[in-house]
This record gives sequence, C-alpha cells and structure tokens, in this order.
Amino acid sequence: MQDIRRIFAERLGQDAPTIVSQAPGRVNLIGEHTDYNNGFVLPMAIDRWTEVAVSPRDDQTVRAYSSVFDEFVTFEMPPDAPPRSGGWRDYVVGVVTMLARRGSLGNGFDLAIGGDVPLGGGLSSSAALEVSLALALVQMYGIEMSDVALVQLCQEAEHAFVGTHCGIMDQYVALMARKGTALLLDVAALDHRYVPLALDGVTLLTVDSGVRRSLAQSAYNVRRQECQDAVRWLQAALAEPTIRSLRDVREEDLKRVQHAMPTVLHRRAWHVVTENARVLQAVDALEDHDAARFGALLSASHRSLRDAYEVSVPELDFLVSWGEDHEGLGARLIGGGFGGATLHVVPAQEADAYAEGITRAYAAAWNQEATVARYRPGPGAKQLLSRGGG
Ligand code: ADP
Ligand code: MG
Repeated sequence: MQDIRRIFAERLGQDAPTIVSQAPGRVNLIGEHTDYNNGFVLPMAIDRWTEVAVSPRDDQTVRAYSSVFDEFVTFEMPPDAPPRSGGWRDYVVGVVTMLARRGSLGNGFDLAIGGDVPLGGGLSSSAALEVSLALALVQMYGIEMSDVALVQLCQEAEHAFVGTHCGIMDQYVALMARKGTALLLDVAALDHRYVPLALDGVTLLTVDSGVRRSLAQSAYNVRRQECQDAVRWLQAALAEPTIRSLRDVREEDLKRVQHAMPTVLHRRAWHVVTENARVLQAVDALEDHDAARFGALLSASHRSLRDAYEVSVPELDFLVSWGEDHEGLGARLIGGGFGGATLHVVPAQEADAYAEGITRAYAAAWNQEATVARYRPGPGAKQLLSRGGG
C-alpha cells in the first residue's frame, strides 16, 4: 500500500499533512438484514484500511484527491449541497456538509484519500471513507463530538448525499472495532460489546462470487418495505402496539399467526426474528470457543436468507453447499445478497486446499472466477498523525 503522506505530498503539492487518520472495512459475521430492523449484528473490522491525509488551507477551497480513482474533486466552503454526482465526491461533500450544519467550519482544506479497502465488494469502503474523513475533520476543526454522534453523522451523510439508505452497522464498527474481536451491536439500544474472536485452528475466508449485485439496491428497498408492512400487520394482529420493529416480535407469536399472515411478510419476519436469535447464539458459541456451532449458525443463516428472505442466487448457494460438502464448518452469503461474497468457517489446516478446491469447482460449474480472501479482525478507526489544526 502506498503511503498516504507521500500521496498527499505528491498530489496536493504540500510537504506534509497536518492530520492522518484511517478507518477499516468490515465483514459482518452474522446478523444479515437485521440492522435496519433494530436488531443485532456481529461484524468485525478487517485488516484493510481507508486512509485520509488532511491539511487546512488559508482560503475557502476544498481540494480532494483519491488515489483509487486518480482524480481530483474541488468545491468551496461551505458546500452548497450540490446535486448528487453519483461519484465519490458525494461522500466528501456529505461529510463536510453534515459537519458544517453543526456550526461554521471556516476555511477549506487539502485532502488525499488512499488505502486498500476494495471498493464495492461488500466490505463497506464507503463507511471507511466517511469515518476516516469525519475523524480527521473533527480533529482539524476542533469539533467536540461523541463517538455515536460521529457514527450517526456519517450514516446521515450517506443517506442524504449518496442516497444509500444504509443501516448504522458499517459506520459503527468502522469507528468502534477492537483488534481480535467481533462487535455485538444492539441497533435498538445503540450499544455494543466486544466478543473475542479466539477460534483456535479456524480460518475465516470470504469467497467473492464475481456476480455483480445489480438487483441488490431495488431488492433492498423492497425488503425494507416488506419488513415495515410485516410490523404493521403484526401490530394489528397481535394487538400489541408495543411492537415497533421486528426486534420486538417473538418467535412463538410468529408461529401462531403463520396461517393468517400474508406468506411473503411472514417469511421476511421469520428470517429477521430467527436471525436475531442466531446472532446471540453465535456470540455464545464464540465465547465457548465452539467453532463447529458457530459454523452451523452461519449455515442456518444462509438457509434463512435463501428460503425466507429470498436474497440468494444459485452461485452463492453453490459456494455455501460446496463448503458444507467439503471440510467447511459452515458458510453463508454476506451483504445484501443477489451476488457478492460468501463467508466460510474453515479448519485452519484445510484453508489452502479449501481455497483452491472451491475456486476450481466454481470455475467448472459457473465458468466464472471466484476470489478467495482471508481477513483478520482488526482495530477500529484511529488518528495516525495530528500536528494541531487550523
Ligand atoms: P462498499 O461500501 O460495499 O465498498 P459502496 O457502493 O457503498 O460499496 O461504496 C463504494 C463507493 O464509496 C465508491 O464507489 C466511491 O464512491 C466511495 N469510496 C470508497 N472508498 C473510496 C476511496 N478510497 N476513494 C474515493 N472514493 C471511495
Ligand atoms: Mg457501502
């Protein structure tokens, strides 16, 4: 990875940045489609980072350079909420505008963005960018802000300026993660606890199917709507106004109303309610160092995503089944579905053979290349350099 300080010096024509910060990408171990239903998720930060380097300017201009796109973006402070560009500019304008809404920021700045979180691969490079940038700017402008407020500001920036109605998980874990752990996030309480990821003899692999998630955005919106409809139906049927989200629904109540409830709504609710339970069971399994149980829960999650939430595709099912038929302890699709990657729990001594076997089998079955990666649970966002701000 190229040093962000050098990129900054070369591209922005200054000697050294005032502030350097970084934020990681993430893999969500279990708890899929639960975050926007006020439930539980269990992500870990990965050992891949987005880095930003910033220096204040003595005029109103913001000049930003991204090494990934090898491209500059400029605008004047305060940003006047321009129409969406559809590009990375929206993330920078979004974070800056959200900060400026909290009080006047003053001058502009020079910004270089680098790092090695793969873009658009379901590892949440977008949150890594938002959080690393917000962290640097909060420091540079001397803004006092709680961690949770910063997380919410980044999420809001993505909602309002990019138009992606993401849950809060990605930004939360990017900021709060701790090395060697997964983070159990209770979205309703906006509270978390760390779960040591000490599965000796086990490796976590992701396998990117290479299937682009073309349906993902529209399907995501449909699923969100279905979940809201399910909540409304259950509120009426169970006569429990205390049900505000699927988080508040009990499995036995869902079973009871199964035949009365519209099938699709019941399926969606069933996934979310049982997935929340699986997250908590997975935490128990990790705390018991029980890799087999942890893996089995991932596989159960996949079946639920496939059959009840209906967001899988045959390529992802193939990857999961292949793992289960070989040495894998369990696997599931990760991310929104309709493409992207799967996560596999594999005995460490089998990892190389597994990686080779699954890529070969996938190529033979789908005439397409699958890419295996291995990530370790890394720490959350941090300031790498701070020489005082302007
Ligand atoms: P994901 O978050 O899963 O990687 P998204 O589509 O949500 O996928 O976010 C990817 C987008 O975030 C990119 O297309 C780009 O606009 C922005 N982005 C992420 N990392 C960078 C970076 N290093 N430089 C510029 N833009 C970035
Ligand atoms: Mg994203």
